[in-house]
Amino acid sequence: ATPAAIMTGTGRAAELGILFRKGEALQSLRDVTLIAFDKTGTLTRGKPALTDLEAAAGIDADEALRLAASVEAQSEHPIAGAVVAAAKARGLALGAVQSFVATPGMGVTARVDGRRVAVGALRFMTSLGLDAGMFADTAARLADEGKTPLYVAIDERLAAILCVADPLEETSAAAIAALHAQGVATAMITGDDERTARAIAAKLGIDEVIAGVMPAGKVEALQRLRGTRKIAFVGDGVNDAPALAAADVGVAIGTGTDIAIEAADVVLMSGHVSKVPAALAISRATLRNIA
Ligand code: ADP
Ligand code: MG
Repeated sequence: ATPAAIMTGTGRAAELGILFRKGEALQSLRDVTLIAFDKTGTLTRGKPALTDLEAAAGIDADEALRLAASVEAQSEHPIAGAVVAAAKARGLALGAVQSFVATPGMGVTARVDGRRVAVGALRFMTSLGLDAGMFADTAARLADEGKTPLYVAIDERLAAILCVADPLEETSAAAIAALHAQGVATAMITGDDERTARAIAAKLGIDEVIAGVMPAGKVEALQRLRGTRKIAFVGDGVNDAPALAAADVGVAIGTGTDIAIEAADVVLMSGHVSKVPAALAISRATLRNIA
């Protein structure tokens, strides 16, 4: 492509709020056949809320929520905010917390009012040697609705299951449909529960899903998806930066973290993922004009 054509293309994109940080990105994007998306904060709003709470026999649901929220008050994860907000909405007074530990991609533990409390994913409970089998049916039903099941253990016993749901960005489904119409395949990479992720991907019409990915495992997941294809990755979070750098084209959400924006080749200044089809169309048109 001539420098003039590249400049015209990047200029047109900029008018739409699509910032190509390097001219080569316009060329690389044209050749992409697969676009993989981060889920939380990219396809979804990243603002989950508590939707369900069910306690084990003999456990008071409000007390389980109060203990869980006391621990989550120490965490910065979006899920933590949902649990704390739900406890506050019920007027529950949070307890004093000691020995807080957060395990990325898994969950959190601490002592609250002298009790040992753990909150997190099924794999976290399993890693702690706790059996959540009693909640298996409930978890499957809720996950099929696209909700994320979390478990609360108190003093080494499963006490409750709760769910959070993160609303989809309004434009996500239309963006995926537009990309398919442009002939590219789509995928989602997430740390979320497999069943939850599949339900959300189905709602959006996304072709491929890799779920249960640990924060450090996104690049490996991306390479596995990529195979021999040219891949773009769209993300917003600190955890997404390595995958944004590793992809053939990294696309950051402009309202995302600075680290993601710095690692990306393309930044969507507005409109979230709704601008991805336009970015692809501009890259193709620019390079067609000069071919
Ligand atoms: P993602 O941003 O893709 O959802 P994360 O790696 O941040 O992925 O989290 C993956 C999973 O780990 C969450 O879906 C949740 O089950 C569990 N988890 C992580 N942090 C917490 C937390 N503070 N409280 C409860 N669960 C957590
Ligand atoms: Mg994210």
